[in-house]
Amino acid sequence: MEVFNPLSARETAVKDRLVQALKKSKADYADVRFEIADANAISYRGEEIETMNSSRFMGGIARACTKGGWGIATFDDAQKMPHAVEEACACAALVGREKTELAEVEIVDAVAPARLERDFRGVPLDDKLALIAKYNDLILKADPAIATSWVFFTDAFRTVHFASSRGAYFMEERPRVILSASAVARSGSLVQRTHHSVSSARTYDVVLGLEEEVEATAKRAVALLDAPPCEGGVHTVILDQKLAGVFAHEAFGHLSEADFLYENPKMRDLMHCGREMGAKGLNILDDGSAPDLLGSVVFDDEGTRTHKTHLIKDGVLVNHLHSLETAAKMGEPPTGNARAIDRTYPPIVRMTNTYIDPGQATFEDLIGSVDKGIYACDMQGGQTMMEMFTFSAAYGYRIENGKVADLIRDITLTGNVFETLHNIDGFANDFEVHQTGGGCGKGGQSPLPVTFGSPHIRIRNVVLGGT
Ligand SMILES: [Zn+2]
Repeated sequence: MEVFNPLSARETAVKDRLVQALKKSKADYADVRFEIADANAISYRGEEIETMNSSRFMGGIARACTKGGWGIATFDDAQKMPHAVEEACACAALVGREKTELAEVEIVDAVAPARLERDFRGVPLDDKLALIAKYNDLILKADPAIATSWVFFTDAFRTVHFASSRGAYFMEERPRVILSASAVARSGSLVQRTHHSVSSARTYDVVLGLEEEVEATAKRAVALLDAPPCEGGVHTVILDQKLAGVFAHEAFGHLSEADFLYENPKMRDLMHCGREMGAKGLNILDDGSAPDLLGSVVFDDEGTRTHKTHLIKDGVLVNHLHSLETAAKMGEPPTGNARAIDRTYPPIVRMTNTYIDPGQATFEDLIGSVDKGIYACDMQGGQTMMEMFTFSAAYGYRIENGKVADLIRDITLTGNVFETLHNIDGFANDFEVHQTGGGCGKGGQSPLPVTFGSPHIRIRNVVLGGT
């Protein structure tokens, strides 16, 4: 997205409204975010249409901070914006007992229009429904062992206006289109699920022409019924780009979020800047400014311009992710990671596009280096508890004598993230970003659009659950 100035007449009118409302503030700091969103959702489950929604939402939220205490008030009518500012200020005054500490950032005054290649708003709902029905049919007819399907489509075009009592203003258009296709295959009591999803902040075309991928997804669910389960034990594992990217986000990225660290002295100590986290080749970054990705925003929801932040650089922890408040409290630079899922929530510290940098090796080099191991692909589900994680790969393969061998199912990776990061010792040159559309959840705010990126990576001594 590009940022243009000056504002159009319409934007100027909305900006004036926000600026006028903020004049009601008696707090140390206040901001208002106002959003208009148009969204569609269509889904099929099995033979049936499950969802068919078209909606328009309008509304916003005012925040105020007095003596370190926050107040918020939401509104669904732009007329009530000044009143919401007053309410937020009154709440903040009731809870504030300390000192308002917010980091200094560039005061922005800009608009960031969407750069859509093919606008999904111009596509009739009937066409979208027919497309979803076609993919759903492909799954159901792929094999007699297919028990059911779930195909979900959503598009949303959000226009977000923001102003703060510091004089900041931005308008940003945030489009997204997501399609996810899942297949469930059954044989007796054995059930196997697979999924394929795509998304884009740039074009509707991303959901077209997926027939081959959707069919392959259904066939993989069926093939997994005959695949043996993964043998438990300690193995060398090659992670594909999707699973490695999700690992970076879930197991490590969430620990980098400074609101969590600020409240947790033990983790703050474990996550101190300067700590050696892994091999020299290990680089993990978060970049909200990457163009046109689902997790990209030009400004976060406090008006901070996003940028690329190294979390781990050459194996060393160098930054945390911050809002204005956590940056001030921890004495570190703000990173533009205060995000809210929509107009009804205040921003909290969140990731954007989180990824592991590529290395020099080829995929064949990594696989060829393993006599006996596991090639684990895609994410099925997972849990993290502080530094401990458990992830299930969607599917995988045995590696035998440096070659990819049989398909296997039920691959569960368990470990301590700090030990595991140290055990990553191979980075391929085949970096990919996965715009899976799978959103991130935190603090009751889900799904937030994010992306994951990584090359294939090799990890030594991974504990795998299984038979
Ligand atoms: Zn997450």
